[in-house]
Amino acid sequence: MRLILLGAPGAGKGTQAEMLNSLLNIPIISTGNIFRAHIAEGTELGIKAKRYIDEGKLVPDELTIDIVKDRLNQDDCKNGMILDGFPRTIKQAQALDALLVELNMPLDKVINVEVADEEIIERMAGRTVCSSCGTPYHKKFKVEKVAGICDNCQGKLIQREDDRKETVKKRLKVYHDQTSPLIEYYKRQNKLVNIDGIGSVEEISLRVKNALGVN
Ligand code: AMP
Repeated sequence: MRLILLGAPGAGKGTQAEMLNSLLNIPIISTGNIFRAHIAEGTELGIKAKRYIDEGKLVPDELTIDIVKDRLNQDDCKNGMILDGFPRTIKQAQALDALLVELNMPLDKVINVEVADEEIIERMAGRTVCSSCGTPYHKKFKVEKVAGICDNCQGKLIQREDDRKETVKKRLKVYHDQTSPLIEYYKRQNKLVNIDGIGSVEEISLRVKNALGVN
């Protein structure tokens, strides 16, 4: 299955991507995680991307499209993939369409996780991430077993620089200006499924599974 997870920052895309990854056994392609790995390694791409990310802006399309192109060409994407946080602009969506035609990998569904801005601002305040493997946690919705330590790899949990309140507000504006037009874009392709993103992780996961006809 080839899926896109769409939604504002903090809507819960990452958590649903993980659920679908274990259920369907297909890789997650998260451009945010790829950028963070590059930043951690101090690569040239990481240094360039960090400037935009820390300010709550989007990394330029050219850089972003190239990393997705490389990733989609890898063998593990042959049976499907979950795109989390990509595309985020119409230009990225058009480039992705062209790429998927070239690779003969038609898209199945675009899941749009809907959450209001006020709820997102509140949620982001409680969000942490593993500084080592990128697994997301939340003080209310997904609590780690040992405080401040990742369940998977024992890495240290941190608050992302771009999850700070002022940056979150900027990221929401960027989302409304540049990413939300994709809802209409995929609606026109008959690929869009809207999912109510309010509720427990289990409730939202069930809605996603029902919408995809998997369990
Ligand atoms: P995320 O973890 O998906 O919220 O991404 C964190 C940050 O990485 C975003 O706020 C952007 O600065 C950058 N980023 C991630 N994906 C993209 C994308 N598809 N296009 C441009 N910038 C991106």
